[in-house]
Amino acid sequence: MDTLEKNQFRKTLGSYFRHEGTITRFGWVIMAILVVEDFVARLVTTQTAADFALLAVQLVLYAGFILMGVLKLRQIGVRDQDQSSFYKLAKCSEIVIMTIFISLMYHGSVFYFIVLLPIISIILSRGFKESVRYILLGWLTQILSQYAVMFLFSDLNQQGFYSNPFMLFISIAVQYLLFAFCGYILGSVHREYVRSQEENQILIDRLGDKYVQLEQAKKEIQSQYDKISQTNEQLEQANNRLTASLAEFYTLQQISQAISSIFDMNELLKFVNDVIIGVMGVSHSTIALCHGPQNHLKVQVSSIFDKKELAIVSDYINSDVLKPSAKDGNSMIDNDVNPDEYPFTRGRKIQSLICVPLIAKGNVLGIVLIEHGIPNAFNSDNVRLLEIISQQVGIAIENARLYQQMHDLATLDGLTGAYNRLYFQDNLQIEFKKAQEGNYDLSLLMFDIDHFKKFNDTHGHLFGDLVLKNTAAYIMKKLRKEDIFARYGGEEFVILMPHTTLDQIVEKAEDIRRGIGSMMISDRVISASVTISIGVSSYPETADNQVTLIKSADDALYEAKRQGRNRVCVACPKSSKKA
Ligand code: GH3
Ligand code: MG
Ligand code: MG
Repeated sequence: MDTLEKNQFRKTLGSYFRHEGTITRFGWVIMAILVVEDFVARLVTTQTAADFALLAVQLVLYAGFILMGVLKLRQIGVRDQDQSSFYKLAKCSEIVIMTIFISLMYHGSVFYFIVLLPIISIILSRGFKESVRYILLGWLTQILSQYAVMFLFSDLNQQGFYSNPFMLFISIAVQYLLFAFCGYILGSVHREYVRSQEENQILIDRLGDKYVQLEQAKKEIQSQYDKISQTNEQLEQANNRLTASLAEFYTLQQISQAISSIFDMNELLKFVNDVIIGVMGVSHSTIALCHGPQNHLKVQVSSIFDKKELAIVSDYINSDVLKPSAKDGNSMIDNDVNPDEYPFTRGRKIQSLICVPLIAKGNVLGIVLIEHGIPNAFNSDNVRLLEIISQQVGIAIENARLYQQMHDLATLDGLTGAYNRLYFQDNLQIEFKKAQEGNYDLSLLMFDIDHFKKFNDTHGHLFGDLVLKNTAAYIMKKLRKEDIFARYGGEEFVILMPHTTLDQIVEKAEDIRRGIGSMMISDRVISASVTISIGVSSYPETADNQVTLIKSADDALYEAKRQGRNRVCVACPKSSKKA
């Protein structure tokens, strides 16, 4: 039984004690009335001086009765239980005082029932059994006190019937037997109370068991709930990781697809830049690649459209603050960007940035720089994803460079850097077809260095090689992007010029011839110059197809040689050929 239940139980008993208090106080009032009644009765009947003495005795007894009652009630208040021996003593004293008092009364025998009042309260509060001793006490006290009064104060009671001791005894015995019987019946109230109390106790015990079980179930539910919450949290984390992994996977798949399908490096970098912006939701993304022996960064692609802002980025992309990435190959993250520290962010209100290197085979090829306008925009996951993207892009750049090298090896002449004859032949076919379909002029220039055999013999082969290199370099500077310059034979070169008429190529040929002729080529010891002879032809003016285009230029070159070299000869027009 817990504290709450005990309090409840005490409350129920307490209500009985409250009744006891009421009965006690009721007894005080009754006794006061009896004192007055007895005194008045005596004054009316006997009117002797002894009446006042008796009144004094009665008042003393009355005071004793009140005192006992107060002490008894205080005992109940203090102990809050009925087991106190002092309580029992007070109770007995009350009964004895009351009995003696009534015995002293003029009409005493009429009022003996009042003694039964405290006994009734015992029957109600503690049961009939408990009250038996008090009943016996009351009975004994009444007999003794009435006999005492009978013998000691024979003039007090006037009733003739009670003056017979035997009749008195029988009368009191019958009176108490009747009372005991009534008490037994009244005791059933207490028995009922005890029984209901026991039942209550059983119910409380059961309730207690249920409460304990309920508590256990509650704890079990709580622990299950905690476990579920924990599992839920783990699932949520796993789900977030999975979503992030899926996004990463999708991004990388897109990038690797782009790498395998986009061969133009700039186009590829633009695509990757767009993917980074889309996936990472950043304000800007910029890719810069290393160039030259100093590995200078040059912005290759950027999402910054404003020309002024882009110019600032291009100007300051080589600032020392990006060195950890651009030189040492380490990733950088800053979620609280100070614009003074990062000059390339000037005027753009950038608050967070990540810079990761583009690395292939241990070499830094460039950087990827992503920027955000809000602080604390990035975390280590963003750095990791950007590193993975950069790794792929780095490999793609390296592959593109290798491809370019192989392509150069296959298409370029190793000594001069001009295209080789094979490349020229392939492209002549393509360009001729385009010119035919586009209905525009396509001209060809063929030149050969004059007396080069002799030149070699005079200055040596190595110097001859230098002449070939310098001549090719000079020509390249003079060409447009769409012109194709190739080494056709030993010291024989061709230039294919789309959208160029015969007159225009003659002019160009003269310009080149003069330029080469006036160019001094020197090494540490030798300084010399060469002349060239040039033959030109043009579609559709001098040739109908690619074969005649070469053939007529070759013929014109032969003619230039024949005429004395260092000159330009034009292929014969188709009409004159026919003629
Ligand atoms: P021509 O004015 O008639 O053209 O006289 P030429 O001496 O130049 O005659 P030709 O064109 O027949 O001579 C070609 C010479 O070019 C032969 C060779 O020694 C030289 N030659 C060809 N390829 C190279 C090369 O790669 N390096 C050097 N140094 N010389 C080369
Ligand atoms: Mg020659
Ligand atoms: Mg030759």
